[in-house]
Amino acid sequence: MDKQTPGLSLRRFSFHYNAMSLSGMNIIVIGAGIGGLAAARALALRGADVTVMEQAPEITEVGAGLQISPNGFVVLNALGLGSAVKARSVEAGAVCLHDYRGRRVVRLDLARHGLSDYLFVHRADLIDLLAEGARAAGAKLRLLQKVSSVTPGTRPRIDLANGASLSADLVIGADGLHSKAREALNGSIAPFFTRQVAWRAVIPEDGSQPAEARVYMGPHRHLVSYPLRDGRIRNIVAVQERAAWAAESWSQEDDPIAMQAAFGDFCPEARDLLARVERVNLWGLFRHPVAPSWHGGGVTILGDAAHPTLPFMAQGACMALEDAWVLADTLAGQGGALEGRLAAYQARRHNRTRRIVEAANGNAWKYHLSFKPLRWAAHSAMRLGTTLAPE
Ligand code: FAD
Repeated sequence: MDKQTPGLSLRRFSFHYNAMSLSGMNIIVIGAGIGGLAAARALALRGADVTVMEQAPEITEVGAGLQISPNGFVVLNALGLGSAVKARSVEAGAVCLHDYRGRRVVRLDLARHGLSDYLFVHRADLIDLLAEGARAAGAKLRLLQKVSSVTPGTRPRIDLANGASLSADLVIGADGLHSKAREALNGSIAPFFTRQVAWRAVIPEDGSQPAEARVYMGPHRHLVSYPLRDGRIRNIVAVQERAAWAAESWSQEDDPIAMQAAFGDFCPEARDLLARVERVNLWGLFRHPVAPSWHGGGVTILGDAAHPTLPFMAQGACMALEDAWVLADTLAGQGGALEGRLAAYQARRHNRTRRIVEAANGNAWKYHLSFKPLRWAAHSAMRLGTTLAPE
């Protein structure tokens, strides 16, 4: 195993710092999400001339909470953003698993499992810090720039919905689930519906709750919640197995009553959390294969564009951060032709991300009582390094 892609450990993510300058390299990053902004900062710090093209009118997020495990935090720290991120996060102490009647199954003390620097952070806060960090390093962030196609070539090109075209030495597709860059490299690959949906919401809190994630597991459903922003709000994700299809979108709203009804037989503590939800988003959980090809003709991909991941390892954002670091590190650390360096980047990342995606797929049913969670919980307590709470 490559010592820079250490198994599935979420405790550490070891890496080199290759300081060779990328000065003179002109790079377009598509997408100002977590992966795109982290890559922009990492590359601009090494001297590259970086422009980020984002389709949205502003760099902001409606999304709610994210769990950043130590492997993600170590990248943020290496980018010089560690203390700023910590200042806006809740440092997680434990994950408590309960059955749906409210009985505690197990309490996993994160520090005891070597998982200190495990953070609960609001996506908007992380995006803010990364955008600020990318700009401070010299990257240019351009909004309202929807990329309609990507053309690999000796000088790769992007075409924009507004009719403009731009070329660069390197185009990085950090454009998420429905990536144009992934399509240019791999054609379109249809995902399939997992027959699970998830609701996401935040509720106000008074800051007195412990810094713990709470998981309630019931037949065909589970509910996860954890505090954000000094415990003044609480993130909720509620997952249900069901045949009815839902769109793969983070922004589709639903009626809170539908979610409350789906968890109507859960314990009063769980029902109380859901009763306080006023607005909720619903998304369908789909499985996507990891992209077979991550590079070609001066184009590469990272984050969800390369390996969309089900939310059952809480690793989507962390993998995007790791990719961003490794891509910048590989470009700056190796001489030779660009395509060879991009092949080395894929080689460093492909196996680890594939295993994370597979582990998240495998976790999909483990939180549901129909699959003996008590046995699983004991098992996971022993193997915490590879299996974490869902998002
Ligand atoms: P994304 O974060 O999806 O960023 C992609 C960016 O590219 C977006 O800014 C998008 O607007 C832009 N873009 C896409 N297409 C184009 C185009 N054609 N032209 C220009 N720009 C384009 N994970 C969690 O763990 N917990 C959560 O609560 C959570 N919430 C999420 C909420 C949202 C709205 C999204 C999009 C993702 C969320 N995820 C969450 C998933 C997790 O954050 C992802 O795994 C992680 O963000 C991957 O980062 P990324 O940079 O690869 O992609």
